[in-house]
Amino acid sequence: MTDNVSKDIKDPYLLTPGPLTTSHATKAAMLRDWGSWDDDFNQVTAGIRTQLLAMAEAASDEYACVPMQGSGTFAVESALACATDPNGKVLVLMNGAYGKRAGQLLDTIGRVYITLDKGDYLPPQPNEVAALLEQYPDITAVFLVHCETSSGILNPLEAIAEVVNAHGKTLIVDAMSSFGGVPISLAKTPIDVLVSSANKCIEGVPGFGFVIIRKALLEAGEGCAHSLSLDLHDQWSYMECTGQWRFTPPTHTVVAFQAALAQHREEGGVPGRCARYTRNRDALVKGMRALGFSTLLEDEWLSPIITTFLSPTDPAFEFNAFYAALKARGFLIYPGKLTEVESFRIGCIGQLGTTVIAELLSAIQNTLAEMGVSLFPGLSSQSGSA
Ligand SMILES: *Cc1c(COP(=O)(O)O)cnc(C)c1O
Repeated sequence: MTDNVSKDIKDPYLLTPGPLTTSHATKAAMLRDWGSWDDDFNQVTAGIRTQLLAMAEAASDEYACVPMQGSGTFAVESALACATDPNGKVLVLMNGAYGKRAGQLLDTIGRVYITLDKGDYLPPQPNEVAALLEQYPDITAVFLVHCETSSGILNPLEAIAEVVNAHGKTLIVDAMSSFGGVPISLAKTPIDVLVSSANKCIEGVPGFGFVIIRKALLEAGEGCAHSLSLDLHDQWSYMECTGQWRFTPPTHTVVAFQAALAQHREEGGVPGRCARYTRNRDALVKGMRALGFSTLLEDEWLSPIITTFLSPTDPAFEFNAFYAALKARGFLIYPGKLTEVESFRIGCIGQLGTTVIAELLSAIQNTLAEMGVSLFPGLSSQSGSA
């Protein structure tokens, strides 16, 4: 992994949770055209499906990997429609935008659900989940976002999975922004459905998501979809029969993803990538705290994916001006998504390392000086209101 792979074409670094900065090799893979029905392309698809199952440590006799065209939400929608019983009830664990979106999707699909809503950034606790499962025995499935990208919190997946499994319910995990960058083992953790996409920690370009799902659930989901194009069972059975995607696949995205998977392997797989993202996060948080910023979350809950920082209280700080000045210096950061406090987010994922983080920190320091924002030196470097 080299820090400056995209410097030659002077793109800004994307300090965002995907789409993100991709390597030259991944972009270069898109310079060929492929026939979507051709055997060469079908082999790429088959290889990707096998590698994703291996990355999840999912046994191939129990689980299937089904890619789905579109952004990550398309894959979540197809998974929810397939894996939730039309006559059952879903428990949606919410602590941010993506948990809320799952609720909207269930409304659209026509499934009944209840929520455990923890607000902007507090984690759902395993004992709260257990209490709800006991109170509502008609719950058939639980939905959890692993890394809730709207705050950057890494929710307690393993502990919640144990509780859901102990109650014999289906666990559906939105691991969109964590899979490939944070270890998840379906051999060790009882997860029935896991959803992610091409343009997050595997560092591909946007265009499709994928669902790793128990085959028994796929079979049970036949005829349950509310949508023709998002019918996961149909996509799976067609792909199993023909080796092809049911409708036109994003061919260039798929071959770029194959290249991205090869680089993921070269980096040491999930542990290697997690180590780099963690170094990025640690350098970022340390440097930002040294500048006087506070993180929204306590250290225990920080993911190596994206971190939320509270905006300075100095009235000279204005996010749009801050954003534009950083963009002019070659860095795109991310606005905050909290309802209560002013904040912004900085991602740690993508084809970049601690050299880029150091450059970003000095760009932030210079920008604040230019804006006349005081840096509150010497103030507590502890986290904020979490
Ligand atoms: C990115 C992301 C999604 C999918 O968002 P799209 O814009 O549809 O790609 C879903 N859940 C989480 C947690 C995400 O980070």
